[in-house]
Order: sequence, then structure tokens, then C-alpha cells
Amino acid sequence: MGFCLINHVAVAARYAIEQLHLERVAIVDFDVHHGNGTQDIFYDDASVCFCSIHAAPFYPGTGTIGEIGGPSASGTTLNVPLPFGVGDRGYRRIFSEIITPALRRYKPQLLIASAGYDAHWADPLGPMVLSVAGFAQIAHALRDLAAELCDGRLVLSLEGGYNLEALGAGVVATLRVLSGNDSGPDPIGSIRAGEPDIDGVLHILKRSHPLLI
Ligand SMILES: [Zn+2]
Repeated sequence: MGFCLINHVAVAARYAIEQLHLERVAIVDFDVHHGNGTQDIFYDDASVCFCSIHAAPFYPGTGTIGEIGGPSASGTTLNVPLPFGVGDRGYRRIFSEIITPALRRYKPQLLIASAGYDAHWADPLGPMVLSVAGFAQIAHALRDLAAELCDGRLVLSLEGGYNLEALGAGVVATLRVLSGNDSGPDPIGSIRAGEPDIDGVLHILKRSHPLLI
């Protein structure tokens, strides 16, 4: 739909399954937009678990909680649609209360992240308020998950990010965390904004999603 010519993450996941003979690959998409292409490609394929955290209602308009996979792969799509204005605190909860327990159930052998940085507060497109420190926290969560579940096998593929300073700083913080360092100083800082309540979204997911009930 205009942003991607080739879905690198989907190619990587399919390659891991067909050429490297893995049975289960998980994709975590923290780009602020719903990963509609990746979801579509693997919607009825239980060998790939696709998790997307995104703003809603927002472009491209897909990614509701009820989209959980096709008849042969029910529960292997997990969408976390969020109101505008979620930041570091909300994303921390999503990783600890939703993504981590869901992937512990799925047991991936490889973790791939669609690493978009357009949920930063300074991003001109994304309506979220993550800071660089928040992206570092996401990198920590992914690294810990990969260490626990798949012998540290983790691939990040750069996706969105339309404020180049925030994008660069987010990538640097991510790489620092992945290489075992602290995330370093946040050159852009955070904004003081009350985050919206996401209890409702988390509650519905915990009550209804096959990987969480
Ligand atoms: Zn995006």
C-alpha cells in the first residue's frame, strides 16, 4: 500500500521455515502502523505467529483484536490496537502482559521484529509518545524473549520512522541494548503527557485471545 515494495520480514520468516526447516517463527511488529501485509501473508499459516502493536483507528485501518488468524491458524495472529498517545509505560505493560506470555505459549524458534520507530513522540506521522528510552525498553524485552525462548535468535528489520533524529537515536539505543550495553543517553528526551487508559484493550485480549486465555 505504498510503504513497502518487498516485505523483507515475511521473506525472512518464509526462508527460515522452508530453507532452514524451522517449525515456528514469531514476528513482533512495533511499528506504529498495523502490519497489514505481514498479517495477510501469514494469516492462515500457523508456522508464523504475527503480533502487531499499533495505533487505531489509523492507517491502514486493519488490525482489530478480533483478527486472530484463519481457520487453519486460529490464534497465531495477535493484534494490539491502541488509542493515540500511548508511551513508554503503556508499551512496557504490553510487552510484559501480552507479548511475553503469548510468545511463551507459542514457543517460537526464531524471533523477528518489524522495528519501526514511528511511535516516537516527535514523529510527524505517528500519534504515539514513546521516547528513545522506551524503544530501548522494547529492545530489552525482545532480547530477553529471544534468550528465553529461542537461544537468542533475534532479527530486527528497520521499518518506519519519519523524524530522522528520533529514528537514528532509536536505532542506536536498540543496537546498544542488543550488544549488551546500557541504552545510553536519550538525546531527544521525553514529553510529559498523561497516557490514555489501555486497561480495556489488555483486558479483552487476556480474556479472548487463544494464546492468552
Ligand atoms: Zn509505520
